[in-house]
Amino acid sequence: AGKQSGGNRYHTHSAALDATAEHHAHIAAALRRGLELGEFRLVYQPIVELPHGIVQGVEALVRWHPDGGPAVSPAEFIPVAEHTGLIVDLGAWIIDTACADAAAWHQRHRDNAPWISVNVSARQLLDPELPAQVAGSLHRHGLEPRWLTLEITETAVFAGGAAVAAVQALRELGTGIALDDFGTGHSSLTLLRTCPVTTLKVDKSFIDGLNGTAQQEAIATSLSGIASTLALRAVAEGVESEAQADRLHALGYRYAQGFYFAKPVPPDQIDGILGANRALAAPR
Ligand code: C2E
Ligand code: MG
Ligand code: MG
Ligand code: MG
Repeated sequence: AGKQSGGNRYHTHSAALDATAEHHAHIAAALRRGLELGEFRLVYQPIVELPHGIVQGVEALVRWHPDGGPAVSPAEFIPVAEHTGLIVDLGAWIIDTACADAAAWHQRHRDNAPWISVNVSARQLLDPELPAQVAGSLHRHGLEPRWLTLEITETAVFAGGAAVAAVQALRELGTGIALDDFGTGHSSLTLLRTCPVTTLKVDKSFIDGLNGTAQQEAIATSLSGIASTLALRAVAEGVESEAQADRLHALGYRYAQGFYFAKPVPPDQIDGILGANRALAAPR
């Protein structure tokens, strides 16, 4: 392609763009239909307290099963849903379903019930209806706001000042706010000044470096230090081994989430864990 003339290159480039746009339009239509047909499911990944691996929270993660088939990754369809605005309706369904599941766990398991974290995208934060919609779901299912945490990313909050106002409104409602993928953005620290955050989710890329170089450990330690200095909850994301879990505990991390403890599972399996002793793989 590099040897083509400028004209040809332009033609090739625009054909590629058309293909992408067509592909997006196709997925967008299928997503909208999927929402009507009930093809979406929520799975939940436990967030545990170290060192005993007690389940204290769960993160809701959406899955799409087109035509009842195998799940499509959110990494593939969330960007399309964002781009087309469908994320607003899909997001409303996600929040409402998560509140319903959380309320049921609270009724069945009382003090053993976990807090629930729900991912919210930039487009949702810019929707002026979001705080009222969250309040509506909490009220409808009788869930106390403090049991719900909304996970936002730095990119989402930088989408505009209106996003920060939305975060403030959610905080005033009484929900928690978690900064997802913390440390990967360009201005993670600035955000801590402007946004009323309650939880830092330290990105997997920093956790991967544990038991590696002293420098990598120093960064992971600093990130948990920032959380404890500001009295925020720190959750280590993407913990895959016992060695990492042990190290996290030694470095002052209180909460962890990752395949080592549990993969995301359907809601009935969370019920099973809560009904048992609530403890997942406990690092020694
Ligand atoms: P995220 O919010 O950072 O979610 C964590 C992702 O890491 C999940 O992928 C989870 O399955 C995966 N993960 C957890 N532990 C491990 C581990 O030990 N190792 C590895 N390799 N991965 C681990 P998932 O479910 O595919 O979601 C990907 C992203 O899609 C999420 O990243 C989030 O940004 C977005 N997403 C998922 N569900 C929703 C949703 O309901 N709404 C919105 N707006 N975005 C969502
Ligand atoms: Mg998340
Ligand atoms: Mg995350
Ligand atoms: Mg992440």
